[in-house]
Amino acid sequence: MTSKTLDNFLNGSILDLKQRGLFNEIDTVEGANGPVIRIQGKELINLSSNNYLGLATDERLKQAASEAIDSYGVGSGAVRTINGTSDLHIALEERIAAFKGTEAAISYQSGFNCNMAAISAVMDKNDAILSDSLNHASIIDGCRLSKAKIIRFEHSDMDDLRRKAEEARSTGNFNKIMVITDGVFSMDGDIAKLPEIVEIAEAYDLITYVDDAHGSGVTGKGAGTVKHFGLQDRIDFQMGTLSKAIGVVGGYVAGKSNLIDWLKVRSRPFLFSTAVSPADAIASTKAIELLMESTELNEKLWENGDYLKQGLKALGFTIGASETPITPCIIGDEKVAQQFSKRLVEEGIYAKSIVFPTVPRGTGRVRNMPTAAHTKEMLDKSIAVYEKVGKEMGLI
Ligand code: PMP
Repeated sequence: MTSKTLDNFLNGSILDLKQRGLFNEIDTVEGANGPVIRIQGKELINLSSNNYLGLATDERLKQAASEAIDSYGVGSGAVRTINGTSDLHIALEERIAAFKGTEAAISYQSGFNCNMAAISAVMDKNDAILSDSLNHASIIDGCRLSKAKIIRFEHSDMDDLRRKAEEARSTGNFNKIMVITDGVFSMDGDIAKLPEIVEIAEAYDLITYVDDAHGSGVTGKGAGTVKHFGLQDRIDFQMGTLSKAIGVVGGYVAGKSNLIDWLKVRSRPFLFSTAVSPADAIASTKAIELLMESTELNEKLWENGDYLKQGLKALGFTIGASETPITPCIIGDEKVAQQFSKRLVEEGIYAKSIVFPTVPRGTGRVRNMPTAAHTKEMLDKSIAVYEKVGKEMGLI
């Protein structure tokens, strides 16, 4: 017999979430994840993907992946320290380092586990981490895993960061102190104030860690937020993911050789979990090469982002302080945000609501992620549907 206590816990908790409108129903997508997707046989314009440059379905990446499957097979065999490391993973890491302007790089199976791996490999219970209050869940979990003291500073508030850095340093209680931030905040699309963060870090001898999951391929003409500000030599950890603009799957840290050497001997997901498949590794390498060769896709992404933003703003929606193509449409009430998204989907626009706990309570929103693969016609249709549903629900 299975556990009654577990059943009671699960059934009660799920019911509670459903009653509060916080239970996330997950749709099944039939086929590829491009600018148009099919759900329950219906084609929808997809404004919910992080596939910023459209590379997830790019023919050049698909070709490279198929060739890798032909000659390498589909799996990586075992963890890299036991089974030997594939030349494809080494090539990927060399490409990442060149792309990010660092001495070296290490790749992981996902961005999430990269944060869990890298933070806890360097920080411990004698250390402190200054963490932006809107940092991603994987940063929060990585910080917790490290057992360092977590000191949250108000989102992008540099006075608060400076005050807390001063306080942490002056107590003399900590061996190492890290400041950690998203490069681009995915729920609002704003960019971290890296020049000021670096200046504070240098004043108080802080280790700097930037999670640029949403900046890579997007800011800095594609090279990311650190490059955008020209700070390659002043950031210790340039973390990123291969699952968003790069279009594949995986995570990485780029930095100095000694940091990467340490992560290879101390970060547990590298030591105890099998690497991404050969096809994934080569597809990511190909994507980075394309980004280094041309900024065409990146320019298209920004053009589409500006177009959608202007369109929604002109209709009277609140799109917040986005500085990137990410276009939130902030509604407030969670249930209204969910209802709004449901109506958009019925009208052919796949733009999903994001509610607590992903964003703070009372800031429910529908988040739009235009990509380089969307056409003007798709964006015009999206704006027209926003107008129709927004008026119908009395939101504009
Ligand atoms: N960091 C940030 C800021 C993210 O938004 C995400 C993905 N939502 C991750 C890390 C995790 O990346 P991945 O999906 O590759 O695990």
